[in-house]
Amino acid sequence: MAKVAFIGLGNMGGGMAANLAAKGDEVIAFDLAAPALERAKGNGCSIATSAEEAVAGVDVVVTMLPAGKHVASVYSDAILGKASVSALLIDCSTIDVATAKSVEAEAAAAGYTMVDAPVSGGIAAADGGTLTFMVGGSDDGFERAKTVLDKMGKAVIHAGGAGAGQAAKICNNMLLGATMAATCEAFVLAEKLGLDPQTFFDISSKASGQSWSMTSYCPVPGVGPDTPADRNYDGGFTAALMLKDLKLAMEAAKEAGAYTPMGGEAEELYQRFVDRGGGGKDFSALIKMIDDSWEDATDQTIDAGFKP
Ligand code: NAD
Repeated sequence: MAKVAFIGLGNMGGGMAANLAAKGDEVIAFDLAAPALERAKGNGCSIATSAEEAVAGVDVVVTMLPAGKHVASVYSDAILGKASVSALLIDCSTIDVATAKSVEAEAAAAGYTMVDAPVSGGIAAADGGTLTFMVGGSDDGFERAKTVLDKMGKAVIHAGGAGAGQAAKICNNMLLGATMAATCEAFVLAEKLGLDPQTFFDISSKASGQSWSMTSYCPVPGVGPDTPADRNYDGGFTAALMLKDLKLAMEAAKEAGAYTPMGGEAEELYQRFVDRGGGGKDFSALIKMIDDSWEDATDQTIDAGFKP
């Protein structure tokens, strides 16, 4: 049993902290939002009044924060120099590769072992303890982190050195954004060419157009397995978060000098979708914008246009 400080108890962190507590860790939780703290308390965590108080004397510090700027400020204000240098530092947030590397370099300079460990899987996987973690850091850091992350996930994979977890995460999500956009286009065109969506699914899911976006996360209601499309595109992974990850991927591609035209196109499509009010919907709802009938309804918001 470890003593774990958990900072950032939002949609994802709330369930993750609850799983650590349920599996016997002593969890000291902190968030800026009072309702998040109440939920953590109800799930067996102790509550700290500041991040600095949470990290005092713990074995492990886990952060699950919105973006790089939050991670950088919490690390510099409340973790580095405040937690014991023997504490393992794990950042599970999805942030830009450059910030991940710089925070890890600062942590290493101060004598800490730190890993970046972003997740694949949404709120249901966080609540259910079935996340996939992609870990960047040393072999020793990975082995130590795995014992903690195993309690919150179904797979913990060592991606490479510092920042490699974030790199794997944004490359994966760039691929996902592009394949989802292509899958939406294919269903719209198929229907306009007179094909029944279920028939197209039956063919393409067994042919060379097959992908996870098609077979596990079909954007068409009533076709394939149960997905957010069957629930008016509510729940799941929001278009706003997909756009965030595509922006991180494009930023990293620019810095690395990689040519990523499909990722750029996906970013542009998701930006338009979010600008039109679709940010809170599941990212597969992009099909509503790609459909020409939606384009005709230029004076409507995405929500008003939803007809699952
Ligand atoms: P969220 O906004 O629900 O939660 C973030 C929490 O951090 C909030 O409760 C906020 O109050 C807290 N916070 C912000 N600044 C803080 C500070 N300085 N100190 C303490 N707490 C602070 O976000 P989320 O959906 O839980 O996502 C968290 C991370 O996980 C993000 O980086 C996101 O990209 C990534 N992610 C989310 C999903 C998803 O489906 N929601 C899936 C995969 C990855």
